[in-house]
Amino acid sequence: MRAAFPRGTNAAEEDLGDEFNSLHLDTRILTSRAKPLENVDPVIVPIYHSTTYRYKSVEQFNQPNHASGSNYLYQRSGNPTTENVEIIINEIEKGNGALLYNSGLAASSAVFLEYLEAGSHMISMCPLFSGTVNFMTEVLMKFGVEITFVDFEKEGDNFTKAVEDAVKPNTKMIFIEVMTNPAMNVPDISALIELANKRYILFFIDATFVSPYNIQPLTLGADIVMHSCSKYIGGHHDVVGGCVTVKKEDNWRRLKLQQSVTGSAMAPFEAALIARGLKTLALRTDRISDNAMAIARYLEKHPKVHKVYYAGLESNPFHKNAKKYLKKYSGMMGFDVGTTEKAIKLAKSVRVITLAVSLGGTESLIEHHLSMSSKARSAPSNYVVNIPEGLLRFSVGIENVDDLIKDLEQALDQI
Ligand SMILES: *Cc1c(COP(=O)(O)O)cnc(C)c1O
Repeated sequence: MRAAFPRGTNAAEEDLGDEFNSLHLDTRILTSRAKPLENVDPVIVPIYHSTTYRYKSVEQFNQPNHASGSNYLYQRSGNPTTENVEIIINEIEKGNGALLYNSGLAASSAVFLEYLEAGSHMISMCPLFSGTVNFMTEVLMKFGVEITFVDFEKEGDNFTKAVEDAVKPNTKMIFIEVMTNPAMNVPDISALIELANKRYILFFIDATFVSPYNIQPLTLGADIVMHSCSKYIGGHHDVVGGCVTVKKEDNWRRLKLQQSVTGSAMAPFEAALIARGLKTLALRTDRISDNAMAIARYLEKHPKVHKVYYAGLESNPFHKNAKKYLKKYSGMMGFDVGTTEKAIKLAKSVRVITLAVSLGGTESLIEHHLSMSSKARSAPSNYVVNIPEGLLRFSVGIENVDDLIKDLEQALDQI
């Protein structure tokens, strides 16, 4: 009878022939291995955690790309599990190359360090994610980069003009986030890109808050887009990572070279979690955005809620921009219940929703912004970000929306 399941063979035994059996046990343990896969194509890209690769000869090593068309030499410069995710993200963003980093901040700082230097000037929107502000004020400025922060909440409709007024002969980059936090206001992204293009300034955007499903800034003309994969891309609150996608392949080459010398690449285990998360990016962000829309409408009518901050509401002062640039409005919202005491009480009273920082995952998370997130600075010290004391920031998840509304209802009843 033919065996239905062929027994695996030892590649070392095939390579070494009879000599293999004369090796000591300890050496046989080390050399033994399965044969590399041939004509086998796993449905899901496996986790390759080898740091290094076997070559048949020095000639093979010295051939361009080691005759394999790949960057696989050492894990810091290329890994199949990581590249799989880069290919998927590049596809979503319609880019000309993506790179994965070991955190969102590693991703954004790589771009700042690559395109700015002592004596160059950057214009940045504020308020921003606090970690990004801290990188700018504590690292970039230390190395002699000049930064002008333009306050979106203050400038509003005048923001593009204010950015234009801030341009100098040495301005090398304009940086914005897709929406401000926690007011969730979306600037006129195309007008800013047009300004950057006209003045030959690199346009860099952090689109973490809305996910790459709801916006692809490269298609609007942005040069570089980044995401914290710890949020919507990973989507399950179980992995930290970041990605950068570029419009021009030259920029991918520059950042790839930089990454191989700074060592900021994502590890393959994390990449595998992200590959899994990406499978449901569309499903999750659709569900989350729909849940959030329904919740924002519910909260807006609630007598104990003073104000709802959500890009999808017609009452949002920059809803026209959100509508123009976003497919749906993501799950990020804020709502003001009036006082710190009430907000803290509500955060403690929710039962289905979780009291925690971070955002963009399957579970709904709520935080009292002033006592949790904004202790970290979201603007340089000479800017005052006006955050209402009763503001709760809410990252809506994929739970059944009726249960979320019921949970908010019972928590609001208690304040
Ligand atoms: C979380 C976040 C980052 C930083 O990402 P990490 O993965 O935490 O390093 C950057 N920008 C925004 C808007 C974020 O929400």
